[in-house]
Amino acid sequence: MGHYHGVLENWLRLQEDNECYFFVADWHALTTNYADTKGLQENIVEMVIDWLSVGIDPVKSVIFQQSGIKEHAELFVLLSMITPLGWLERNPTYKEQMVELKDKDIHTHGFLGYPVLQTADIIIYEAGAVPVGIDQAPHIELSREIVRRFNFLYGDTFPEPETLMTASPKMLGTDGRKMSKSYDNSVYLTDAPEVVDKKIRTMMTDTARQRKTDPGNPDICPVFITMHTLYSDGDTKAWVREGCTKATIGCIECKKRVIPKVLERLEPFGKRRMELEKDQGAVLQMLKENTDKARVVAQATMERVRRAMGLA
Ligand code: SF4
Repeated sequence: MGHYHGVLENWLRLQEDNECYFFVADWHALTTNYADTKGLQENIVEMVIDWLSVGIDPVKSVIFQQSGIKEHAELFVLLSMITPLGWLERNPTYKEQMVELKDKDIHTHGFLGYPVLQTADIIIYEAGAVPVGIDQAPHIELSREIVRRFNFLYGDTFPEPETLMTASPKMLGTDGRKMSKSYDNSVYLTDAPEVVDKKIRTMMTDTARQRKTDPGNPDICPVFITMHTLYSDGDTKAWVREGCTKATIGCIECKKRVIPKVLERLEPFGKRRMELEKDQGAVLQMLKENTDKARVVAQATMERVRRAMGLA
């Protein structure tokens, strides 16, 4: 859900008026999950089905798989040669995840260097703009710095990608932290209705509300911030605000009001998803054809890069 509201809704708008490249960043998935790759293939198909089920259209956009285009890795190596270590060490997401992901050993070269791979992913298609949320903006700034350094050293080769800042809703997970797959606190578009129901019923609330008679504050409650804000109408939000602050409603009562709205919104995605799951071969074929299309562009860029660097 975090990905849908924070990213996919925006992609749906963008694909109407722009030439868009959307990709499965399977190499990036290894930066934090390198030790357990069992479910990777399955996750790739699931994610693409997610995109298609919400309306990302492979005719309007190019949907490809990163690891299917080895030129991304080549450009990553070349950019790694010119990227100072200090630029990566001061990356705020790197510092934040070092603190948050204590159960994983992410003191790896790949994790520190992932913004360089991300830069390769962007500039290999000479992307004019990259849609990102506020937390990803420093990465695009870093990409711009790397491009400037490359162009300074080897001559004008890449345009600087612009940051297309997307106002995305604040999505908090079931434990009150930012909703993220890495934190195992997400509600998934693939979750069955009873799973969604259970996740929201057990979702963290304002901890001041130990008993129904304790007043709370919706503005710091993950259920309100994420679920009611996105799915409830004005009257319901007013009802929550009044009942929570005056301690006249309970948290379960409050959650029960929003659960049907969430389920209603997710239902059409579930239907389309079921159709797509029946024909996974067609989904994989689409991904392959789109990857072939993207590779032609990446190969042309790499020919120019090799020439600029004196490698060809
Ligand atoms: Fe959150 Fe609703 Fe409980 Fe208030 S009543 S703390 S908004 S779940």
